[in-house]
Amino acid sequence: MISAPHRPSWDDYFMAIAMLVATRSTCDRLHAGSVLVKDKRIISTGYNGSPPGLPHCDDEGHLLEEGHCVRTVHGEHNAILQAAAQGGTSTRGSTMYAKYSPCIHCCKYLVAAGIVRVVIGRIYRNTQAVDYLKSAGLQVDLYRENPAWKQELARLFTEEIPTKSAPPVEFTVTPSGGR
Ligand SMILES: [Zn+2]
Ligand SMILES: [Zn+2]
Repeated sequence: MISAPHRPSWDDYFMAIAMLVATRSTCDRLHAGSVLVKDKRIISTGYNGSPPGLPHCDDEGHLLEEGHCVRTVHGEHNAILQAAAQGGTSTRGSTMYAKYSPCIHCCKYLVAAGIVRVVIGRIYRNTQAVDYLKSAGLQVDLYRENPAWKQELARLFTEEIPTKSAPPVEFTVTPSGGR
């Protein structure tokens, strides 16, 4: 008998997904990730990366302009663009979970896309984003880390989860293609 695992709150759940999304970033200047959520459902996700088909910083180096890498589309921006490209659900009235506080440009896009709440995992550089989003009437919340959930996540990714006994299955591992 295993003890019942900790059940995450919605904020815990979506922020953990934003952290996971960030691991796909291809610019090591900042591994940002975000999740766009509406009615407790994920509309889209985004990480810092080049537009599809264009070279990545990880492969070609950064593309610097005035001290900033401009090769990538930021995670927050990418989430909005993915929602647009996929179609389906309007971003109006949605909530964004972002691993770091968005840059000022992404803040503008969040406001323009009709996003009403932003949950920030960690303040990056300064609180300009928070002030800007609040001035536009958005609800901004700083994510409060939940130690029990953090522990559960660590367990989830390091321990094998016991399952009911079943006959062993041979899997054929095929390498995933592309970046
Ligand atoms: Zn870069
Ligand atoms: Zn940005």
